Amino acid sequence: MLALIDGNNFYVSCERVFKPSLRGRPVVVLSNNDGCAISRSDEAKALGVKMAQPHFEFRHLEEQEGLVSLSANFTLYGDMSDRMMSLAAGLGAAQEIYSIDESFVDLSGIPGDLRGRARSVRERILQWTGIPCCVGIGPTKTLAKLANYIAKTAERKPGSYPPLQAQVCDLSALAPNEMNALLASTEVGEVWGVGRRIGEQLREGGVITALDLAHLDPATVRRRWSVVLERTVRELQGLPCIDLDDAPAPKKEIACTRSFGHPVRELPPLIEAVSEFAARAAEKLRRQGSLAGLVLVFAHTSPFRPGPRFARSLTVPLRRPTSDTAAITQAAVLGLECLFEPGFDLAKAGVMLLELCDDSVMQGELDLEVEVGRERGRLMHAVDVLNDRYGKGTLRLASTGAVGEQREWTMKQRRRTPQYTTDWRQVPVARA
Ligand SMILES: [Mg+2]
Repeated sequence: MLALIDGNNFYVSCERVFKPSLRGRPVVVLSNNDGCAISRSDEAKALGVKMAQPHFEFRHLEEQEGLVSLSANFTLYGDMSDRMMSLAAGLGAAQEIYSIDESFVDLSGIPGDLRGRARSVRERILQWTGIPCCVGIGPTKTLAKLANYIAKTAERKPGSYPPLQAQVCDLSALAPNEMNALLASTEVGEVWGVGRRIGEQLREGGVITALDLAHLDPATVRRRWSVVLERTVRELQGLPCIDLDDAPAPKKEIACTRSFGHPVRELPPLIEAVSEFAARAAEKLRRQGSLAGLVLVFAHTSPFRPGPRFARSLTVPLRRPTSDTAAITQAAVLGLECLFEPGFDLAKAGVMLLELCDDSVMQGELDLEVEVGRERGRLMHAVDVLNDRYGKGTLRLASTGAVGEQREWTMKQRRRTPQYTTDWRQVPVARA
């Protein structure tokens, strides 16, 4: 048996924890550079704000309806996510963190009332972190996802499902006819793994609800569609086909890319930006215990703005696989200097680390370079420890420039809230 625990309107909920005045109001969190909506409160959904809708299209609602639009505060969301995940893990024996606000938990071997247990974990998450979430329980990942959708929808839209299913929906506790009634009330497009295109094809073929899909013959589905959809059908029928992945495979490439807050025309600020991206990417690389063999660097103009176009990328091989920030930054800056041309309003740049391998490959060799590599590894470890303790960028290469407002390439985030939980200077103060 599996549970899926999912934070409701997660980014908005994180903001509301520290700004209770946002409760009950329409609130939207915007993507990088304040571009479009990436999280909406129920009130904002009711005003018709769509996911990924550009900010300028609904900005007028701020005046007319009191809508609050905020810049994304990913430092806060990441930290709140950690807190939520560690509490959610208490539900069962193993956990797969599926996204920033969703995790699957393995409930096998857990005796007794699963719904009651899920309710108390949900309450604890709400009380200890302030994040409301919903829990779906089912024998397969697809059914746990579906149960979660039912729990969320039953809470948000009264009348859509029986009120008993709100917040926590345990499909394993239902009689077959009750379960079928829930599946029959769910549109096929809401099933995990059914994309928009396949959803349309299914509806054209008369498969309208999740129950219709569950009643299809798996072999026919494989012939007409794909093995992937066949797997979905079997999972809907209660046969587990997708395993819990509690130790995600290390990434095969690591990227750090950003759109700039303002166009960048000169090389020096671009070197700063690329140095910082390289440092971030190298940090991620060390965190997963990998080395990189190749550094790709790119820069381009905006495809949406008029003016001359520029888009170029370059890969720079490293002399030997490394996770050393200095070596990776040096390669990225070298690549940047080769591809740069003046006269363009550059809107985005990035660094990608490729040809990754495990950092244990260094062991067993005895030449001087390996020895130096180990020394550098210890230095990088010290840098990571210091930056973890005292905050991102406390210790960094001089080529990343000075931190502060003067950096033209930093993101536009005019409406960002403080780093409430990760910076001592920004911790909220309670006054009695
Ligand atoms: Mg969510």
